[in-house]
Amino acid sequence: MVLRSQPLGESDRIVTFLTRSAGKVRAVAKGARRSKRRFGSNLEPLSRVRLHYFEREGSDLARIEAADLLESFYRLQEDPERGAILACMAEVADAFAREQQEDESYFRLLHAVVRAVRDGMDLDLAARYFEIWTLRLHGVLPSLSSCARCGNELGARGGVYDRREGGVLCRRCAPGRPPGGVVLPGQAVEAAGDILRRAPEALIGREVAAHGLAPLADLAEVVFFDLTDRRFKSYEVLRALRGSG
Ligand SMILES: [Zn+2]
Repeated sequence: MVLRSQPLGESDRIVTFLTRSAGKVRAVAKGARRSKRRFGSNLEPLSRVRLHYFEREGSDLARIEAADLLESFYRLQEDPERGAILACMAEVADAFAREQQEDESYFRLLHAVVRAVRDGMDLDLAARYFEIWTLRLHGVLPSLSSCARCGNELGARGGVYDRREGGVLCRRCAPGRPPGGVVLPGQAVEAAGDILRRAPEALIGREVAAHGLAPLADLAEVVFFDLTDRRFKSYEVLRALRGSG
């Protein structure tokens, strides 16, 4: 699946893919800027293609021989808000996918969530789904069901994410809010449980209240930042878009 496509010089593009069998691959599409004939819209973000490429000695940039379109999600992105949410997912995937290392479960996650969005999954739920599973698949998701200190179930009272501990504490262990921490009410713990137990297509048609999902967005933002030391540009774009709407 195409994550990103950037111009290179007058006539070429550098395209970043999340592949099923080789993790993240960056490759040059010769002539993709000058002529639409060879690649058409196959290299648009989130297109799923059968990719033929050559690795080049002494370079981490491969060279694309062919990219045959298997599934296009181009039209989905015509809706600005949906396009912005999908761009967030592509940017997160670009940051977390490992280069040239098999990561089939991450490929399957991205594909399943994008398909569920196409089939009507709530956009915010889809975004939270992708974030939480991104952390889970890369071994960095704190437990969202039990307290990191005493082990008690968080349940309906929820908990608080403590950045220094890198874990969620129950209300007894953390009565206040630690600096930079994120309060996770019971509804957020419940929404996270749904996300972790079900496939994205099983959540199509499900409505989750904003006060259940918004704290999970804050949690992902804090954990992403602590891991990658960056804020994702696409999230700023989404925020600006919603602020102006
Ligand atoms: Zn506790």
